Amino acid sequence: MKRRYSKEIHIGNIAVGGNAPITIQSMLNTKTVDVDGSLTQINELKEVGCDLIRLAVPDEASADAFKIISDRCGLPLIADVHYSYRLAELAIKAGAKKLRMNPGNMSTDAQSIKNLVEMLKYYNIPVRIGVNGGSLDKHFKDMHEADALVSSALSTANIFEKFGFSDLIIAIKASNVQTMIESNRKLAKVCEYPLHLGVTEAGTLKSGLVKSSIGIGTLLEEGIGDTIRVSLSAPVVEEVLAGKTILKALGLRKAGVEVVSCPTCARTEIDVQGLAEKVEQLTSKIEKPLKISVMGCPLNGIGEGESSDIGIAGGKDKSVLLKNGEIFKTIDSSQLIDEFMKLLNEVLQK
Ligand code: SF4
Repeated sequence: MKRRYSKEIHIGNIAVGGNAPITIQSMLNTKTVDVDGSLTQINELKEVGCDLIRLAVPDEASADAFKIISDRCGLPLIADVHYSYRLAELAIKAGAKKLRMNPGNMSTDAQSIKNLVEMLKYYNIPVRIGVNGGSLDKHFKDMHEADALVSSALSTANIFEKFGFSDLIIAIKASNVQTMIESNRKLAKVCEYPLHLGVTEAGTLKSGLVKSSIGIGTLLEEGIGDTIRVSLSAPVVEEVLAGKTILKALGLRKAGVEVVSCPTCARTEIDVQGLAEKVEQLTSKIEKPLKISVMGCPLNGIGEGESSDIGIAGGKDKSVLLKNGEIFKTIDSSQLIDEFMKLLNEVLQK
């Protein structure tokens, strides 16, 4: 797939756009003033491969906490600011490496943006203009929704450009997947800014994953998109795992484990779902690219696991471990996880 050309923007030491790898973002759901809780969640996100993390800065106390968190975590953090240029300034001074603003709930008067631009240039940080279907700037409400979202984003970008500032990333999100796809396709044709993709208010783990995979996946497959967030009403770690799975499914990220498992049938002899979930959990922090199969019977499972690096073809009493698609060892099913972990560690050490 040929990626759309986009300008490369830097968020601290992380590049977005240009030829940079597509990054995965998430947002903390702790209170920012809860410094310890926020740092714990940042570490959880880091461990599963989150590239960029956003924190809300709803008040001055949060801006103070943002500074402590930013100093301690050693990651470039993004500040999410609504309604107030004063909070935006405090967040920048607190060490934010990118600012997210939504023109639907932040005044876009030229003087406010001019003042902001002076600070952004001084601190050398970019801005994400994040337009949402649910909080669209009232000036565009009468237009076709996808056009309105694009117009809102571009008109805000134009104000920044007038003041000589173009370190911008644009996100257009909608909870309707078709609107999200249509508006991003339109936007991709008329600007060269990096695009942040996501389906907003996508829903719970199950429905949110489906909607996000369709919305984000369709655009990525067309070469559109430079950074993604899978928004889920679920633990934040799930957003990152989902983002990694989307990128891996499209061949856009090689690192990490891909677990494939069979759909089960009348021949199934083990709890495939439970075992596959366990394997996913045990391997979620591994960066080495590995394909692991979890199959529900030794008979067909061996053949069906042929394309994996390592695998399990589980049986009621005896199970088979696979390595490079071939039988590696037959074991007692009671020893399945222990023997699998031994084989996994062996492969990881090579
Ligand atoms: S691997 Fe075995 S249990 Fe799984 S779907 Fe195929 S035949 Fe059925």
